Amino acid sequence: MSEAHSLCLLLAVLYVADCLWWLPPGAAAVEQLRPGGTWRPRLAPAWASNPRGRLVALAPLPLGLGIQLPPPPLSLSPTGCSTATGFAWTAAPSRPGEAWAVRWEDVESIEVHDRAVHVDGRRLAAFGRADTARELAATLEDLRQAPPRERESLLRETWHRGSDLQAIGSHLDDLERLALPLRWMGAALYGWMFLLAPVILVFVGGWPVLVALAVGCVALAVAAAVLFVRAHRAAFGDESWTRRESAAVMCLSWPRAARGADLLTRHGLEAFHPFAVLLVLSEGNTAFEGNTAFGGNAAFEGNTASEGNTAFEGNAASEDNTASAGTDGAPEAARATLAQALRAAAFPLGLDDLDPLSREVTAWQTAFDLRAFGRLLTEAGLEPDALAPAVTIDPLARAYCPRCLADYSEMHPECAHCIGISLKPLPLPSPKAESS
Ligand SMILES: [Zn+2]
Repeated sequence: MSEAHSLCLLLAVLYVADCLWWLPPGAAAVEQLRPGGTWRPRLAPAWASNPRGRLVALAPLPLGLGIQLPPPPLSLSPTGCSTATGFAWTAAPSRPGEAWAVRWEDVESIEVHDRAVHVDGRRLAAFGRADTARELAATLEDLRQAPPRERESLLRETWHRGSDLQAIGSHLDDLERLALPLRWMGAALYGWMFLLAPVILVFVGGWPVLVALAVGCVALAVAAAVLFVRAHRAAFGDESWTRRESAAVMCLSWPRAARGADLLTRHGLEAFHPFAVLLVLSEGNTAFEGNTAFGGNAAFEGNTASEGNTAFEGNAASEDNTASAGTDGAPEAARATLAQALRAAAFPLGLDDLDPLSREVTAWQTAFDLRAFGRLLTEAGLEPDALAPAVTIDPLARAYCPRCLADYSEMHPECAHCIGISLKPLPLPSPKAESS
């Protein structure tokens, strides 16, 4: 292999690596394959997840766009705040041993250092953007100073800001609009690097040609970096440090420049609750059709029927939906992911291992989230029956796990995948189901 072809191969490897996102625990990503297309959830398979994070693969195609959906970084209650949350996309265990909590009365300092919020010198939550960290710090300061009886209404306001479906929709529209020129520039760079250059090099070798092709890459990468800086300024204003760093990397790494739109949008919705973002994405794709799409459990069938007891953690069901159902499968996949997260919130893992204050704060936040999202789903005309019994085609199934929906032929004390979650009995199959 010539040096020129080794270089093309190296660029391809770097490009694929840029499409692999290492996400914090409990985070997911959504991806849009073409401008104006549907958004699909991307969850990490079990083998690519560990308690420190998870690896999510975006499609390594030009014009793609990804957004990271981080989990809520902490739990809040009128009593205090805790780094533990009841939130999870999957049955993967959180790290309750590292959680800590503090009462509002005991908080002495709230500071923002490098996109992270520190309380009393300890890191409470970290973000991709400094303005999100500053916003959280301001909220914590308000809660600290508020008289105890006013904290609940402050928490309600905070929840409404983070779950404002209209605000999420308009943010998403803005991000898509601002990312569009970058996506096309990235696609041009992709075509130059991976289609034009290799073909020319096969027919016309030599250093002058290679240098000419490299100059073309540099020009396109710099153009992408300029577009990125403009779009970033329009989207996030004063986040200048992140902007300069990303633009510099784009000029040096052409594959990164080809995925420059991701750099713009990746943390674009991190200030919003991921449940609410998924709700917007499910609606935005083709609008819920009455209550049936969500209420009919259609989204869950893949989980239980085909997966049985095998590693629900891999989220194979939602991936399958995404892969097999084509464009129309995306809203179902978003809904299935939402339902899965609601179940995980209703049946959180590891709460018993938390210290008493973390447990109290987390339980308050989880109950609040479930009530508030239940109302939101009902207002949107959807039945919040994510917690309904599993739909199974296995006539031998007698019990199921309310968290991961795995079904069991016997009534075991607890789920094999979700430590500490008791199984629930399944209703006996109807005579019709038995005869078929
Ligand atoms: Zn389970």
